[in-house]
Amino acid sequence: MPPQKTETPRYPKSHIMAASGIAAALSIFLLVIPTADVEARRTFVPLELESSPILETQPSVSEQLDALIGETITPLQVAEPVDAPVQAEASPAILQSLALAPPMSPEPAEATAAPPTDWISVTVAAGNTLSVLFSQLGFSAASLHSVVSSSKDAQRFTRLKVGQVVEFKKDDTGDLLAIRSKLNDLETIRLDRKGDTFAFTTESIKPDVRTRFANGEINSSLFLSAQKAGLSHNLTMQMANIFGYDVDFAREIRKGDSFEVLFEELHVGEKRVGTNNILAARFTNRGKIFTAVRYTDKNGNSSYYRADGTSMRKAFIRTPVELARISSRYNPNRRHPVLKTVRPHRGVDYAAVTGTPIRATGDGRVVHAGRKGGYGNTVVIKHGQKYQTLYAHMSRFAKGLNAGDNVSQGQVIGYVGTTGLSTGPHLHYEFLVNGTHVDPLNVKLPVSDPIPKAERTAFLEISNSLMAALDQQGSTQLASLAE
Ligand SMILES: [Zn+2]
Repeated sequence: MPPQKTETPRYPKSHIMAASGIAAALSIFLLVIPTADVEARRTFVPLELESSPILETQPSVSEQLDALIGETITPLQVAEPVDAPVQAEASPAILQSLALAPPMSPEPAEATAAPPTDWISVTVAAGNTLSVLFSQLGFSAASLHSVVSSSKDAQRFTRLKVGQVVEFKKDDTGDLLAIRSKLNDLETIRLDRKGDTFAFTTESIKPDVRTRFANGEINSSLFLSAQKAGLSHNLTMQMANIFGYDVDFAREIRKGDSFEVLFEELHVGEKRVGTNNILAARFTNRGKIFTAVRYTDKNGNSSYYRADGTSMRKAFIRTPVELARISSRYNPNRRHPVLKTVRPHRGVDYAAVTGTPIRATGDGRVVHAGRKGGYGNTVVIKHGQKYQTLYAHMSRFAKGLNAGDNVSQGQVIGYVGTTGLSTGPHLHYEFLVNGTHVDPLNVKLPVSDPIPKAERTAFLEISNSLMAALDQQGSTQLASLAE
């Protein structure tokens, strides 16, 4: 196919920006709807799972929401964000416990060991700095300097918060021996004098991981009903991400949509200190049910799959026109045949007779359907937050197709033509990942692989158990509500 002489390789900025702004827009959408009369419930599932978990961080936005909503579930108090990727692996042993674990006994009493008498405990008041505490306790400026300069970690003791408890230990002469402070339920920092300097250590507590169930029905926004159901901001965003390819949370949520979630909750003793991964979830959007199950494969990679083992994300079909011949490939260094200058070709050309149907290569939303400079009649489709495809030089669009429409993979969106700066009938097809052009023929398409055959049995065992747990929790709850 003759190359398009002046087809612009650039991609309109507005679309790139639109793509990158979606996450923010989603958050904002989820947060700003103040009308909330949601029906949501949360129950506790007495299940134990083993994993190496993390503390969840509570974004300030959640706190704002708490204030906004007025009534909240008990917030999880976590002072310092702890970031670490987590892998929660479900194993047959876990599934046993899913089925058999006894009800949780309500024992809120916290067994705290009596503090050692030789520690002097100080609660940080407004205006207190480490320097103020040192002088109050009679420690010298030299010892303060010695502490602060002992290590970078030691400076964590200088970032005091009102209400924080800091403990000090003196030697016989009144000099500082050690300082420690519990930052949150899982972490205590400590300094011990070693000669002229101080050694920094942290003590971490590994929390128990329990499985919890939450469900809710959406009346206005996902975020509010999720809050009411006891899901943290973190878990809500996890859910939005997990189902993000199937459900447009910004625009397609309807009153009556519902969700059920099994997730990991972290405990120290009987105290809830954070949450971890969603293990399984079901989301009903406008009557359509979507499922998700977390599975960690033999290589240790965790991912979500549909309950039947198919991928959460749909593969793109490679070719938007059937029975077409590739007439020009993606080539960032293409030399223009006439101008003899480098003129990138950022798409693939498929030569086909005028009127050949062009199909959307993936599910998505049409963000442009109209003329577009040298591209002629062009359709641009956004697929989730990361991908966009572009189809140019169409003779005409599919009947009734407009920007804003949702299209399905394989749906005809238009017909081959030669509009715009084109020298003959062909489809010019572009594929963008995070706003950057990639070769449509070589792009590694989004994680779309189903469970590998070798692991299918293991997956289905886990999936069936988790889905059964969702069912059981849901019905248990209905029964208890009816009583
Ligand atoms: Zn082209």
